[in-house]
Amino acid sequence: MRLLGHPTRLAVLILGMFAHGPTADAESSEPTFQRYQDGRWLVLESDNFRFRTTRDDFALEGLAKGYESFRTDFRRDWLGIETASDWTLKCDVFIYGSGHEYSRQTGLGVSTRGCADLEIGDGRVSMRRLHFYCDGDYCRSIVLHELTHVLLADRFCQFRIPRWVDEGVAIQAEQTPQQAKLHQTLMKAMADETLPTIDRLLSGNGYPGGRRNARIFYAQSASLADYLVTRGSKQALLEFAERTKLSGVDQALAEVYGIESVDRLESDWKEWVTAASPKKVDGTVAAVALEKSEDRSSD
Ligand SMILES: [Zn+2]
Repeated sequence: MRLLGHPTRLAVLILGMFAHGPTADAESSEPTFQRYQDGRWLVLESDNFRFRTTRDDFALEGLAKGYESFRTDFRRDWLGIETASDWTLKCDVFIYGSGHEYSRQTGLGVSTRGCADLEIGDGRVSMRRLHFYCDGDYCRSIVLHELTHVLLADRFCQFRIPRWVDEGVAIQAEQTPQQAKLHQTLMKAMADETLPTIDRLLSGNGYPGGRRNARIFYAQSASLADYLVTRGSKQALLEFAERTKLSGVDQALAEVYGIESVDRLESDWKEWVTAASPKKVDGTVAAVALEKSEDRSSD
């Protein structure tokens, strides 16, 4: 299964990530790098990633440390993988020097700026690729949203992860300003009574058509994922996603969360959204910026 063009429409600038450095886990085993030239590509390989760029102004080692650190943390927190284990198939990360080059290689519009490209089948991931086009400050960014899609594929390679979970979890990686914008979208849709039902969200397989509907889909997915993590845990959310595929939504809700129906989930979630009004802008983590959030669309 090839998932080129995993709808991203994202441009997440994680400007502060390099400053944080590796996590404690990563510090215990300092990553190793191999740098070489492959035709027109400057290549840097870390334990799990192979970065390729035609630009010579990238601090690739810093980028690699950020990716490796995020991978370690994500696998521990979301997938429950405590031990370090490298992919036998590294994730290729293409960083293009221009939007034109990015668009030519991916077939996507320049405004998407990044995408995950995966081949999944027979219970394994047979290709992992990330494509990014950077300019200006974007050159120092790590697009955690797309990396999250790649990391989730390890868990969901027997069957497709529900789309709302895939996006909802990926948006958790974005942190504040964009989440705040999505929250505003959510609240407006609730006020306008244009928000789809949770039953519709959970039973859907694709992205709704139209930019506005797509934004509402992202907003609702992110909020529901956030709520369920609050009610259970990160790992419980992925367990729920798996069980919805295996035994249906109603049974999965009862087994994982003790919730008797989708209607009850909907009322509980709406009460939480209204009462807690989560994901306000938090200046303490405002190093995260997201460009052109309006570019997030369904195609
Ligand atoms: Zn996405």
